[in-house]
Amino acid sequence: MPYSDYRKQFQLECINCHTRIDFDKNTTGCPQCGESILEARYDLSKLDVQHWLEELKQRPSRLWRYHEVLPLHDLNNIVSLGEGGTPLIKSQALAANLGLKNLYIKDERQGPTGSFKDRQATVALSVLKEMGIDELVVASTGNVAISYAAYAARIGVKVWAFFPSLAPGDKMREAAIYGAEVLKITGTYDQTKELAARFAKAKGVFLDRGIKSVAAIEAMKTMAYEIAEQLGNELEGGQRWRSPDWFIQGVSGGMGPIGVGKGFRELYNFGLLDKMPSMGLVQSSGCAPMVEAFQRGQRIATPIDSPETIIATLATGNPGRAYEMLYDYVQEHGGDFVAANDEEAFSAIRILARNDGMSVEPATGVTFAGLFKLVQRGIIKPDDVVVVNCSGHTLPVETQILDEQWQRSVDLSVKSPQPVLPEEGLLSALEQVDSLVKRIVVVEDNQDAARLIQRILLAKGSYDVQVAHEGASGIALIRKMQPDLVITDLMMPDVDGFSVIDTMKSDPMMARIPIVVVTAKELTAKERARLSGQINMLLQKGSFIDEEFVESLVSKLE
Ligand SMILES: *Cc1c(COP(=O)(O)O)cnc(C)c1O
Ligand SMILES: [Zn+2]
Repeated sequence: MPYSDYRKQFQLECINCHTRIDFDKNTTGCPQCGESILEARYDLSKLDVQHWLEELKQRPSRLWRYHEVLPLHDLNNIVSLGEGGTPLIKSQALAANLGLKNLYIKDERQGPTGSFKDRQATVALSVLKEMGIDELVVASTGNVAISYAAYAARIGVKVWAFFPSLAPGDKMREAAIYGAEVLKITGTYDQTKELAARFAKAKGVFLDRGIKSVAAIEAMKTMAYEIAEQLGNELEGGQRWRSPDWFIQGVSGGMGPIGVGKGFRELYNFGLLDKMPSMGLVQSSGCAPMVEAFQRGQRIATPIDSPETIIATLATGNPGRAYEMLYDYVQEHGGDFVAANDEEAFSAIRILARNDGMSVEPATGVTFAGLFKLVQRGIIKPDDVVVVNCSGHTLPVETQILDEQWQRSVDLSVKSPQPVLPEEGLLSALEQVDSLVKRIVVVEDNQDAARLIQRILLAKGSYDVQVAHEGASGIALIRKMQPDLVITDLMMPDVDGFSVIDTMKSDPMMARIPIVVVTAKELTAKERARLSGQINMLLQKGSFIDEEFVESLVSKLE
């Protein structure tokens, strides 16, 4: 693949006060004003756009062909399943029925896991790989968790997937198949997000911040790049790129349209487009905080505490800043917010399937139901070039594939749903999640060995694995964490494994914790005697990378 010699430089910019900072895994907001959304800004002054356009023609039609404007430094870190480059299908029968001359369907069902979240997953997991993160927490109504789980599996990253109970079982099973730890939370999506954030914080595990993470918006903007290029081929004979008049999408958190809006803006700034598209943003009537605020002329949405829709994918009750951004977009470039109810969505699914041969998931049904309304109301005109994000398709998973342990449930037992859980509720839920998770402390001075043990365990089940690289900090960690198991090496500088074991056994707070010794050392008779009766298992290093090793460890935990 030929790449231009453009050297990428990018920083994050606060969307509020425009402060710029470097991209770092610990970034959670603007250091100046506290704004939670930061956008990637690339130094494109050295990118020769004409040259780049020529080069793009040679590259495969995949998402990473636009890597010059994606937040990754080293392309070797790309985690891919062949995502992006989805077809832009010209609608025939449906377009005719609607009286539209140029209706295009961006078929995101054709992503590796069946939704446009595959864009987000490839960028997010590649960035995490580049940052050396190997465990993450994500709250999702389905598609994000599924897609993250699939991409994470490819690089051995552990995924803790928090689902609200409203999410369909098929989606939870699909995430579980890829090895994600599935936690089903009886509560709303907003509550589930809050619990996931608490869990991540308590465990010190990386939290996917959804729309507030740089990767998500950057990923979604690739849809705009593809659409502009594909429409150029369709309508301009490939002579130039072209913007549609409308981009239509079913909206939950708003990540898709915000990313797409940023993409079109960048292309406009490159001089590749002569206009920005209007946006048709469709929500499910039972959970339409954006539509309701827009109709009242408000820039701030009032959260919906208890969504009344069975379409879980679109059940974000509190859109927060995302709505403000979309509101501003629509004020500047035109568009509308509309709602469609579940029945209208299901009817739209049948109409699309019978007219254009495309079967979609309910969230996408909402999108098409909204499109019908915008056309019927005369807001979308017959000559307008319209692109619809055909966002996803449900993949039913054979129930026999998974064992009974694939999902764990946590009940928030909230009688009357509240937007924010009371503190006691959250703490008790956190305890419930905690009790499902076995805690393990690994004391091992060899970083590679420690990492290996950690990875094997994380791949196997619900473990919270903490590592100490020396005896003294190991003892402190064991005292603090009160783990269900300690795995320790023997040979370590300063405080060695023998001392760790002695200290544990002489302290009533730690004496009962099972101990597994992993060592490369040939033990003398005296050393064996010293360990005898003190530890639960002795494993010689070198033989431990197999299933058997893990099985024997796991058996110690039962
Ligand atoms: C996530 C999702 C949406 C909503 O996406 P946002 O842009 O985050 O609002 C719509 N349809 C499907 C299939 C999705 O997975
Ligand atoms: Zn700021």
